[in-house]
Amino acid sequence: MDRQQSLSALRQTGEVWDIAIIGGGASGLGVAVDAASRGYRVCLLEQSDFAKGTSSRSTKIIHGGVRYLKQGNISLVRKALDERATLLRNAPHVVSKMRFVLPSYRWWESTYYGAGLRLYDFLARGDDFPTCRKLSRDEVVSALPTIDAHRLRGGVQYWDGQFDDARLAINLATTATEQGAAVANYVQVTGLCKTNRGTVCGIKWRDVETDRSSELLAKVVVNATGPFADSVLQLDKTRPPVISPSQGIHLVFDRSVLPSQQALMVPKTDDGRVLFAIPWHDVVVAGTTDTLVETVGLEPIPQVAEVDFILKTLNRYLDIDVSSQHVRSVFAGIRPLVRRSGNRKTASLSRDHSLWEDSTSQLVTIAGGKWTTYRQMAEETVNLAAQVAKLPPRPCGTKELAIHGKTEDTTISGSLAHYGSDAAIIEQWMQEPGRDRQIHADLKLSHAEISFACRHEMARTIDDILARRSRSLLINARAAIEAAPDVASIMAGELDRDESWISQQIATFSTIAEGYVCHFRQK
Ligand SMILES: Cc1cc2nc3c(=O)[nH]c(=O)nc-3n(C[C@H](O)[C@H](O)[C@H](O)COP(=O)(O)OP(=O)(O)OC[C@H]3O[C@@H](n4cnc5c(N)ncnc54)[C@H](O)[C@@H]3O)c2cc1C
Repeated sequence: MDRQQSLSALRQTGEVWDIAIIGGGASGLGVAVDAASRGYRVCLLEQSDFAKGTSSRSTKIIHGGVRYLKQGNISLVRKALDERATLLRNAPHVVSKMRFVLPSYRWWESTYYGAGLRLYDFLARGDDFPTCRKLSRDEVVSALPTIDAHRLRGGVQYWDGQFDDARLAINLATTATEQGAAVANYVQVTGLCKTNRGTVCGIKWRDVETDRSSELLAKVVVNATGPFADSVLQLDKTRPPVISPSQGIHLVFDRSVLPSQQALMVPKTDDGRVLFAIPWHDVVVAGTTDTLVETVGLEPIPQVAEVDFILKTLNRYLDIDVSSQHVRSVFAGIRPLVRRSGNRKTASLSRDHSLWEDSTSQLVTIAGGKWTTYRQMAEETVNLAAQVAKLPPRPCGTKELAIHGKTEDTTISGSLAHYGSDAAIIEQWMQEPGRDRQIHADLKLSHAEISFACRHEMARTIDDILARRSRSLLINARAAIEAAPDVASIMAGELDRDESWISQQIATFSTIAEGYVCHFRQK
């Protein structure tokens, strides 16, 4: 991916794009891959970095959604399980199978949850995931060594997918580019161009790095800005908000909290939700919460009550005393839940996606859903966009489309495994003197990976490198802050930047990263 090349394409006068996409999260990137692979002329504009919004802040599970079964939403689960299998097939370098264990402390729990999980397996029949099974008390203790064994009766084990969300987003951006799309980060959409009849015919945009503004023409514009959807809808016309933003946070611990390759699933928290503690990279990610918030920003702020809630729930299930002192990082994301009515209770809002076309302006909006179903959401969005723009109909091919990085090479292991086919290039660069140097003793990130991210993955800031190209900020916030100066100087060499850029970058990143350090003390 080359940002300059994308910008030149966006600035080409006379070009009328078939589809212009606003937003570079899971939804927008999925639409770009789908539309470009059908042969349409596509561009995508992201105001910050790819996946800077919700798409880098998920619980990292590719799943049908066990808890939706309880709500009777069988078709949602069935479709998501289908997508789970597709993703594992098309992006095996960033998606893997994971075992989840539900411990049971009451006599009926294993039977009750076991029945639900057998239905889950039935809906997923024919795919590659093993089926669930009941576990004895000893098997649960051996799977989850820190589980509270007092009055433990047994449990149930089932399988779902696990992934690295931001890495998948970067791979989708690369796939879209390889399919012919022009995608660019740090390009903000500031307005919509309209015909005399009020139909959207293009967008006004600003290069955030240079502050230079431009316009481009498109036959249809797709608003894929997730929790920010209302701000783009407001560019079209004044209307009441359609998004009910709901925040979810995660706490990241070192592995001593759950020294296992298997995940803990708490089937019912005090607020009637589920909670996961999942091994991911070298850490354990625990979450999440569901808190209605008033504002949507790129760096949502975790609340003390949310941190307390996760710690309290974990302490009910683990026999070690987990406290905020154990937290290596805390991060928050905003669910773009779409309102069906004036209802403000998030638990009752749609977890499925919403897709619609404005009857006057023909602006197409896609919002809601989940990472797991991004491909199916994209397929439906491109079908609608093609119809709106009167493009020649072409079939969707993404069910069988390999995502960038997919490789048959099974010998790649360790911290480079999630690069898939790109690992070979990085390994080669690491042979050069000094390029295999890790930038911090507590982070698995080498000089060569930073260069690769700048040259091939459109990394522009320290935050891009430490939060999304690598997951250092989420894995260990303090270590990431300490590594920032080194990252900045490597990037400055790659991007031809000066000392003042380095200082400004370090200052900006330190402010962002402080929000990931857990300053909370339990009540
Ligand atoms: C706490 C939490 C946990 C979750 N866990 C899971 C999970 O485990 N599995 C799962 O499948 N799903 C999960 N989800 C759901 C999933 O993460 C989201 O559905 C998905 O990431 C939404 O992607 P999006 O592209 O719609 O939004 P976003 O990722 O937020 O992308 C929208 C993008 O639009 C950009 N943008 C906004 N305005 C403009 C503008 N004017 N110009 C240009 N760009 C603009 C933003 O910068 C942003 O990058 C979770 C969600 C949350 C909140």
